Amino acid sequence: MSRVLDKATQEALAARLRFYRELGLTELYRRPVDPAQLAEAGGESGADGVQEAGEAVADVRPEQHSFTVSQEKELISPRKAVSAAPEIGAAVPAAEREAALRVIREDIGDCTRCALHRGRNKIVFADGDANARLMFVGEGPGADEDAQGLPFVGRAGQLLNNMIGAMGLRREEVYIANIVKCRPPGNRTPEPDEANTCSPFLFRQIDVVRPEVLVALGATAATYLLGQRQPLAGLRGRVHSVRGCRLIVTYHPAYLLRDPRQKKEAWADLQIAMRELGLQPAAKGPKE
Ligand code: SF4
Repeated sequence: MSRVLDKATQEALAARLRFYRELGLTELYRRPVDPAQLAEAGGESGADGVQEAGEAVADVRPEQHSFTVSQEKELISPRKAVSAAPEIGAAVPAAEREAALRVIREDIGDCTRCALHRGRNKIVFADGDANARLMFVGEGPGADEDAQGLPFVGRAGQLLNNMIGAMGLRREEVYIANIVKCRPPGNRTPEPDEANTCSPFLFRQIDVVRPEVLVALGATAATYLLGQRQPLAGLRGRVHSVRGCRLIVTYHPAYLLRDPRQKKEAWADLQIAMRELGLQPAAKGPKE
């Protein structure tokens, strides 16, 4: 028999799935379920909505649970290809980089190329030094960023500022951008067609700035920079190569706010970036 999860359980499930995604766990599957077992369970939700919601994805067949057929599609998008990155653009002299970035912003214009334009207030282009040696790439703007038109200005932005400070740098010395430039509704993960449509602008920005080191903040940034999906755990702790830059992968600051235990791991990743830049390691990691 088909049933629909209540709104609170749906939201709890969506939050849990976002958490898994930030962790790099994007491959979810359903185990076949014995109909007798399901009947025995009575098909009712228990007190722990989150736990039950998570189990619903894993344990219930589509024909037995309307959530798995319709709503799950909104929460777990089907596997779609990550577009191949465009060819690397010609090097831009340092003195012309500001102007070259302005040209990219003008090309974006009042963009309606993907569905994300419908809910945005401001396009969030980037922030920082056009000649930065270090560039951070996040997933997409949140509510604060959408309101101000700048990347990483909310709580996660404060933590990123602290991380940058702990590296012995100032925010003004680095360059910060996102995979998508408009806020996804409800801060959901950008859909592949949205990220594939918007990321060529980011690639152009990378080609202009030519940072020595790129830091991908979270699984979505790593996916579209590297052009392949892989769990975050398999990407961290080593140096990748992207568009002539060295790439380090670490956790998104929003994830670190939810699970501060991982800050130590993120700091270890940033120390790899510092080593690549020839920066002296600081005694301590970022402040809370
Ligand atoms: S996310 Fe990027 S491609 Fe989509 S509307 Fe905004 S600027 Fe355009």
